Amino acid sequence: MSVAEILEGCAAEVTRDARAATEAQRPILRERGQREVFCGLTGIIWLHRKMQDAFFLVVGSRTCAHLLQSAAGVMIFAEPRFATAIMEERDLAGMVDAQDELDRVVNRLLERRPDIKTLFLVGSCPSEVIKLDLAKAAQRLGAVHMPRVRILNYSGSGIETTFTQGEDACLAALVPVMPALPANAPKELLIVGSLPDIVEDQFLRLFAQLGIDRIGVLPARNARDLPSVGANTRYLLAQPFLGETAMALEGRGARRIEAMFPFGAEGTSDWLRAAAREFGIDAAHVEQVIAPARARASRALANLRPQLEGKRITFLPDSQLEVPLARFLQDELGMELVEVGTPYLHRAHLARELDRFGPNVRLSEGQHVERQLDRVRADRPDITVCGLGLANPLEGEGLTTKWAIELVFSPIHGFDQAADLAELFARPLRRRDMLEV
Ligand code: SF4
Repeated sequence: MSVAEILEGCAAEVTRDARAATEAQRPILRERGQREVFCGLTGIIWLHRKMQDAFFLVVGSRTCAHLLQSAAGVMIFAEPRFATAIMEERDLAGMVDAQDELDRVVNRLLERRPDIKTLFLVGSCPSEVIKLDLAKAAQRLGAVHMPRVRILNYSGSGIETTFTQGEDACLAALVPVMPALPANAPKELLIVGSLPDIVEDQFLRLFAQLGIDRIGVLPARNARDLPSVGANTRYLLAQPFLGETAMALEGRGARRIEAMFPFGAEGTSDWLRAAAREFGIDAAHVEQVIAPARARASRALANLRPQLEGKRITFLPDSQLEVPLARFLQDELGMELVEVGTPYLHRAHLARELDRFGPNVRLSEGQHVERQLDRVRADRPDITVCGLGLANPLEGEGLTTKWAIELVFSPIHGFDQAADLAELFARPLRRRDMLEV
């Protein structure tokens, strides 16, 4: 190594250390209070489309059934791969044995639906309140229906989870049943997080061109085709809300590849480069492989930049996608971040994203909805990203909003979706300008 390279290395270290110190000092507004977020049951809407041999049985109330029906009602390809076992008053009052009732429902369902290979029993607020032990139920029913059907459980209750945490809980439930990767097996890459099939295919093609061919995906399209995991697994998070899943994977020996999340040209490049580095792939080859798609994304973003540059944006806590999306909007489209709120801030997973935030960005974790709305009213950002319940009142006060849920339901990862992602923010601003004219 030359002296110049050593000095360059030292300078990089110093910059990294300085940035880490700034990050450690960045004040975080931690709030605890009433929150306006969907519960973790919502994840079933995209998970049931992804895992095509799985069925999600929510053990809940009519409210849970309504939530799922109305959220699924807007999905064109909704198929009956989820349902709610409705707990009636006599269940809640403990007048019948809810475990017996559940056995009856599950046995009937599995008799009628031989296509179901994995059944998730999904807990809700009511099942938690009466302390219905779904882990015990999954074990008992699993003993009856294995090997034809694997039965697992997780909680999507609003008491324990917000919105995207349902996916985290579901994937974490799959980790213990993933096959073991033999200790002497070569290193394997595991992509973690549910992506639309079209986006997943784009990434798999890019990884193949890079020369990484030992690769698994969690969740797999068929829940029974689980990838292996072990000490030679290197996992790359595709979604920023998978803290519990990451912990479960680490518990099985896997190691995380540190990277930005694959949003925009920069984030996607960083994500792919980090994986390639881990697998010892030549940097020049990586640049050559990603150059065409990266250039396409940069060109498309340049077209949208004039509509977003200099515009002020606030994120209210909702999906945990807030931090990487804010980084994308700031770095690649020149937007000004006013407040970035997130339900839960995973500092380690988001370190590279937080590094990029300017010093004046207000970062908040958790929610006290009244105080947060007061801040939005005082800041009057050009656009506020928030849940459905808050969008209408804010629009009524003349503030432009973007529904956070659209960001979860739209394909937004990767080079080819970068412009579509930017467009999701540009559209409400265009609409506002047209209404103002
Ligand atoms: S799980 Fe709880 S928050 Fe979610 S729909 Fe059911 S009752 Fe409502």
